[in-house]
Amino acid sequence: MEVRNFINGRFINSLSKKTIPVLNPANQKIVGSIEEALDDEINLAYDAARQAFDKRILLDMNAQEKSRMMRAIAAKLREKKDEGGKILSQENGKTVAQCIGEFEGAANTFDFYAGLTDKIEHKLIPSGNDTQNSVVLEPFGISLQIVPWNYPVSIFSGMVAQNLIVGNTIIIKPPELCPISSNFYGKIFEEVGVPEGLINIVHGYGEVTGRKLVQHPEVDYIVFTGSPEVASEILKLTSDRIIPTHFELGGKSAAIIYPDANIDNAVDSTLKGIFRPNAGQICVAMSRVIVHPKIKDEYMTKLIAKTKELKIGPGENEDSEVTPLISPQQLKRVSNYVKSGIQSGASVAIGGEEVEIGEGNFYQPTIFDNVKTDATIAQEEIFGPVTTVFDFNDEEEAIQIANSTKYGLASGVFTADDQKAKWTADRIQAGIIWQNDWFVDGVNLPGGGYKRSGYGRDGGVDGIYSHGQTKRISKRLY
Ligand code: NAD
Repeated sequence: MEVRNFINGRFINSLSKKTIPVLNPANQKIVGSIEEALDDEINLAYDAARQAFDKRILLDMNAQEKSRMMRAIAAKLREKKDEGGKILSQENGKTVAQCIGEFEGAANTFDFYAGLTDKIEHKLIPSGNDTQNSVVLEPFGISLQIVPWNYPVSIFSGMVAQNLIVGNTIIIKPPELCPISSNFYGKIFEEVGVPEGLINIVHGYGEVTGRKLVQHPEVDYIVFTGSPEVASEILKLTSDRIIPTHFELGGKSAAIIYPDANIDNAVDSTLKGIFRPNAGQICVAMSRVIVHPKIKDEYMTKLIAKTKELKIGPGENEDSEVTPLISPQQLKRVSNYVKSGIQSGASVAIGGEEVEIGEGNFYQPTIFDNVKTDATIAQEEIFGPVTTVFDFNDEEEAIQIANSTKYGLASGVFTADDQKAKWTADRIQAGIIWQNDWFVDGVNLPGGGYKRSGYGRDGGVDGIYSHGQTKRISKRLY
């Protein structure tokens, strides 16, 4: 396992002489430790990224060459997916199959963007005979990217690939709870021969290394995926320098289930929307369900029966469906939210307890019914296997409940009536609306937040425009 920081094209020996232990969420055993980047490493990373930017390595790179580089990264990610997936599972808790899938998805992302290196066209704006105006997409400079622990390998790929296309050089900080798997990228960049300084990986605690990176005078642009609280802190830390930011933040995503919906489909979507993916530790988790009373009994009966059957266990077991929470702190946080839900008068339809499997951070899949819309569990992101169920009488009320939180990331509508689905999608304040399935996704599709879920778009072609700035060049023709 490579545990060092990757700076200027190579893994460097620690200057800080400090390490961060990494624990397996399924048993609290040490998986390994990663070297912490402090001032010396951070300065080296900024120097490397600045030099690479000033030399215009990415900007002057032939589009075909850039494409070949990105395809080579994709191929290496596939080659290393079994080894990488195993380590990711140990440090993150998800099943090995999900983690191998995360490497495969990361490879698909690099392949997709490799196909776009020569397809981003500039604009020519007509304005008469005597002038010519063009608009070109340009990079910001050094892009600092800060990544959360729930999908570190896939977030790394998306952010880095899009920034490479635009021409930003990159310093990326993986999450301290789950950092080792990100070093596969460093190895890959070495093997592929990515030019020095283009992509630098520095490790450390958010409060220490993350803060130092954000406050560094050389930062030109910040891409942050994580909680709104840290996003807000980043804004405060950069407000005097007016650093452009791109935020992919939390959510409290709601599904509206109309009486004409296919109920079995809605039940399966709920299981995969909140319990199966990473024990609900996913930004777009289906953490609220707004269901019509006419079908609620059938929906709840089927959902509870299937939830009872879910297998709780460690990621190393192939049949585990609800894997552990990332840390004892996260387990406590989820537990406290559930207690607050009970105190608010909501009823636990199933679950509501921690699960003892060795020293692991396991929690039962939990469904709350009779939830008040202003209760804390209805408003805040729990980030665990806990969902909340609400009733509605008419469409207007369903929309009002769906839009009642400060978040606006994803949402779903379940109905056989396309017109009603469109009416609903038009009124929900969220960056992604899924119809009749939770997770209709693809690397070519953009997503992002409304309201407190962030701004900027990721994925597809739109994502590329989100990570750069435009320059207008206007000529007078004599
Ligand atoms: P977090 O905000 O605690 O940490 C995210 C990253 O920020 C980590 O790398 C951390 O080290 C760093 N960090 C922490 N404090 C910092 C500081 N003061 N300065 C600079 N960096 C700092 O989030 P988390 O617990 O790792 O992840 C969970 C959150 O991420 C949830 O809210 C989830 O919804 C969100 N998320 C959003 C998306 C999306 O695409 N919208 C995707 C995944 C996760």
